[in-house]
Amino acid sequence: MFDPQVHIAQRVRAVQASGIRRVFELAGQLKDPINLSIGQPDFDVPHRIKQAAIGAIERGVNKYTLTQGMEELHAAIAGRLGVELPNWKLRHAGGDGGLLVTSGVSGGLVLAFLACLNPGDQVIVPDPYFVMYKHLLTVAGAEAVYVDTYPDFQLTAQRVEAALTPRTKMVLLNTPSNPTGVVADQTMCLELAELAERRNLLLVSDEIYDEFCYDKSARRGNDGRAYCPSPAAFTQNLLLLRGFSKTYSMTGWRMGYAAGPVAIIEQMTKLQQYSFVCAPSMVQVAGVAALNESMDQYVEAYRRKRDLVMQKLSGTFELVKPEGAFYAFPKVPQRLGMTGTQFVEAALARNVVMIPGGVFSERDTHFRISYATSDAKLAQGLDVLVELAC
Ligand code: PMP
Repeated sequence: MFDPQVHIAQRVRAVQASGIRRVFELAGQLKDPINLSIGQPDFDVPHRIKQAAIGAIERGVNKYTLTQGMEELHAAIAGRLGVELPNWKLRHAGGDGGLLVTSGVSGGLVLAFLACLNPGDQVIVPDPYFVMYKHLLTVAGAEAVYVDTYPDFQLTAQRVEAALTPRTKMVLLNTPSNPTGVVADQTMCLELAELAERRNLLLVSDEIYDEFCYDKSARRGNDGRAYCPSPAAFTQNLLLLRGFSKTYSMTGWRMGYAAGPVAIIEQMTKLQQYSFVCAPSMVQVAGVAALNESMDQYVEAYRRKRDLVMQKLSGTFELVKPEGAFYAFPKVPQRLGMTGTQFVEAALARNVVMIPGGVFSERDTHFRISYATSDAKLAQGLDVLVELAC
């Protein structure tokens, strides 16, 4: 008899199924839950961006594009990076930096890991981390070396340096961070950049939440606009991954980009040619419109939600103030004697859905709240959490 199990590869067996699934199964049984677990914005794609995609489909922009992405989109991204990161030299600006339009930041991560890592190579991963890193590294055959960043969740150069070995090849940075909302400030970025140069490491900077940054005052582009701190301002030993999913609420549209050393981008492009082929054509057209759209009012609304989270929770929970993204990562009070998972299950019994910290970490002491929901639901949910902890 045919046994499909025989046909399943070792690399996929080594990957654990997402820990989020169990929470979602339990949540699926709730009627009208207060959902603080969602990893995407609660607003819709802005009208002009939708119109650009619809227009592109109507005009027949429905075919394969160049593997690396359409010329117009490259020019728009290069324009943005040119004003934001004047020292970052893309080919468009006469430098030797490469650019690749990817199928989401997820696509960029897959290609980066497959292009850069050999089996046995070590990669520094800040703990807590975005879940995908751990599992994609397993698929690539590389070894994740977790750097504990509790309790402040900062991936400092000092913490990284203590974990380096001759096998370390790459350092992952995610700023603003999922799940903590913590942002690496200018000094942290500079020190990480210097360390990468000194130790010949590739810094992979996942900046998918870069627009959701609530204190950009430290860094201005050539256009006078304030931008989120980034190590890309300080080094070229860096692969920059940015996305459209979160900023413009285009999570289902699947587009992001990777910018970095041309030799690496070329290898990633080669792999994309034989896998994703290209990002969706109409989304690439919409991406040009997106880069011309101001999201400031949305970001302001999220800042106010962040403030509400701090106001309601900080008296009861140990909580690092999130400076970006739309997450907060409070600690379960010790006196409750509960793990993150147990606290999340207690909240589920009160109709509030969150994600246990253990999903993002080698420990299970915290829980992740996403505040990308209506102010009313958020306030209701936060009140339940405070009641549970009292
Ligand atoms: N990086 C981080 C830190 C994320 O939170 C996400 C989405 N949850 C991604 C990458 C992947 O995003 P996408 O593939 O939609 O661009």
